[in-house]
Amino acid sequence: QFGISFDADRGESSGGGAAAPVWNRNERLALDEQRRRLPIYAHRTQLLYLVEGHATTVIVGETGSGKTTQIPQYLHEAGWTQGGNLVACTQPRRVAAMTVAQRVAEEMGCRLGQEVGYGIRFEDITTPGVTKIRFCTDGVLLREMMEDPLLQRYSVVMVDEAHERSLATDLLLGLLKKVQRRRPDLRVIISSATIEAEKMARFFDTSNVRRPRGHVEAPAEGAAPSRSPALMSVEGRTHSVQVHYLEQPATDYLQAAVQAAVNIHREDLPGDILIFLTGQDECEAAVRQLEDEGRRLQRSKLSLRLKPVALYAGLPAAHQLGVFEPAPRGVRKVIVATNIAETSVTLEGIVYVIDSCFAKQRCYNPLTGLESLLIAPISKASAQQRAGRAGRVRPGHCFRLCTEEDYQEKLPLATVPEMQRSDLANAVLQLKSLGIDNIMSFDWLAPPPSETMVRALETLHALGALDLDARLSRPIGSQMADLPLDPVLARLLLAAGERGCTEEVLTVAAMLSVQSIWAPGGRREVDEAKALFAVAEGDLISYINVWRAWEESGRNKRWAVAHRVMHRNMLRAADIRNQLQAHLRRLGIPLKAALQGASSFDHADALTTVRKALAAGLFINAAKLTDEMTVKLSDQHDTGASVYRLVRSAGGDAAAAKLRIHHSSVLFRCHPQWVCFYGAEQNDSGWYEMRDVLAIESGWLTELAPHMHAAAGRRRAAPPPAPARTGPATAFYSSRCFSAWQVWKSAPQ
Ligand code: ADP
Ligand code: MG
Repeated sequence: QFGISFDADRGESSGGGAAAPVWNRNERLALDEQRRRLPIYAHRTQLLYLVEGHATTVIVGETGSGKTTQIPQYLHEAGWTQGGNLVACTQPRRVAAMTVAQRVAEEMGCRLGQEVGYGIRFEDITTPGVTKIRFCTDGVLLREMMEDPLLQRYSVVMVDEAHERSLATDLLLGLLKKVQRRRPDLRVIISSATIEAEKMARFFDTSNVRRPRGHVEAPAEGAAPSRSPALMSVEGRTHSVQVHYLEQPATDYLQAAVQAAVNIHREDLPGDILIFLTGQDECEAAVRQLEDEGRRLQRSKLSLRLKPVALYAGLPAAHQLGVFEPAPRGVRKVIVATNIAETSVTLEGIVYVIDSCFAKQRCYNPLTGLESLLIAPISKASAQQRAGRAGRVRPGHCFRLCTEEDYQEKLPLATVPEMQRSDLANAVLQLKSLGIDNIMSFDWLAPPPSETMVRALETLHALGALDLDARLSRPIGSQMADLPLDPVLARLLLAAGERGCTEEVLTVAAMLSVQSIWAPGGRREVDEAKALFAVAEGDLISYINVWRAWEESGRNKRWAVAHRVMHRNMLRAADIRNQLQAHLRRLGIPLKAALQGASSFDHADALTTVRKALAAGLFINAAKLTDEMTVKLSDQHDTGASVYRLVRSAGGDAAAAKLRIHHSSVLFRCHPQWVCFYGAEQNDSGWYEMRDVLAIESGWLTELAPHMHAAAGRRRAAPPPAPARTGPATAFYSSRCFSAWQVWKSAPQ
């Protein structure tokens, strides 16, 4: 019953509509007993006392001590939710917000969405007037501040997992500090791992800050709380964990991890295993290998059977069930997880942790303006958190897949806050729309690099969100801030309004806002599925084809399965599309279709309209084909790919960034001269690989963004050499690159 089943077949998250839990008395008592046994319970009174007396309370405690599930309940029980107030608890991850809300609803014996609810982007499972405790992502609370800058609905905001230093958490902390000046009655609770706690407390300490002259303190009810933060720590109930290192560095951590798990299993001692890898693909691959190993080991007389399960953020809820359920007798669970299992979710029964010591981390290069996910070594602080997961039930073991020297020398002490390695365009837009004009002097917990700030301002200016004085432009800038999308998507949606093609562009924006719409599978199968919808104009137009075929099928699940389209994600996209549509309506933007109404004679024009609207946001990331080819790349089907260069009038540095089209793109085998793209990934060899690519024409850049691309149009590139398309594998897509409409016509109904 853990994990949320968003059985999307019913077109809704079952969260809100689930039947009320029926508790018999014994189950209730058992849950209450469990709650009382948590380490935090002994600190309940002290905690409530501190929160009463201090504007800010910083709490440090081991994972599993009960911070997330208990503190909001204590506050509720102590009356902080009376008089229509809410208690918010923010999480950096969506999955955490959902699973924790589910658990707390269970503990409180209520239906999820009633007294206890959650909010993630595009999904709000709360009932106004009824909900008392709201778990939400930090991003959602940030967005809420645009409508309610002082967060008047909330009496307490608990910022959970603050040590993770997600971009939104950092922003939120800076803003909360500001809000506290105007609302001394607001209580802030910050839960953090030890390493960051002192810093947080210092940041919130305003006891020495003199109020500016003429400052009028808003009247607080009762005595104002102390402005110096309270620090409280809750000892965990953890056992010792023995850490092991490799003697030789591993060449492949995935293999090493699987091998380590098998070795532990062969020892035949009881206890579940938790493996940390970096991403969904790796987790799935490891699970497959472990399943094979498990079958092989079945023949030897081991008392336990191996049961590998994957855990990552995009995992369908139905599969999450297996992760949180205790393993039945005679079964050893091996959870293969991403960073997500580090602190945010509770896993019981783990005795062994196998740590690759790597994680996917967002990184941003302000010179190229490209953000990408990079597999990088984790910090020592993270490694310690991961190891800690092994000592929950009894003394455990942690196997780090690196040598001890490497661990000591190569792993940084703490992770660099996301704020300092992300594109800040969105953050700056949000701050601007909150009326914080002087971004540079904002009270940052950790100031971002100034190049990044400059780049963010440039980007927003190029998109038309800021005027020449770097103030939010009206209506474009404020409308962009209003849309729950990043600036690029927000801009292209507004451009669609101007060009009369919102219907098509809404589809694209919605489909870009969900995880892959393709059912997982081997690369070849997915490629084949895509080929049916692929068009020479690129991925974004292909998405429109998929969408329309799916709509035409009556949103039929069988159709989706037959075409390897992920039905669940399509339904989610449909939901997001509806919400975005409502936003546009609210902004008074006309909803029009360009392609649907057009006669076949006008299709080319209509298609150009849609592409131009998309390019009106995506021009920020434009690239031009060069006559270079990459040499052999990692994959066996691959013989090389054409090289692109970023087009930016900024020149020098940006032009140095070399890109290629990602193999998941329908344009992987076509090489349009000019492209825009929505995202890029950096691969192991340092190449940026463009995803969600749109083919454009060179003149468009100067037309759509003359200030940014003035020079680009003039420097016409020499025609590229004929791309090498030999052998069946390499020619895979080339025959499918028709114009959008042709393929749409021949797409299966
Ligand atoms: P913390 O936030 O301090 O890491 P939590 O409040 O998340 O701790 O969890 C406290 C305890 O509540 C866990 O140790 C576990 O026993 C129980 N718990 C939390 N979430 C779940 C869940 N989804 N399913 C079962 N038990 C859970
Ligand atoms: Mg927690």
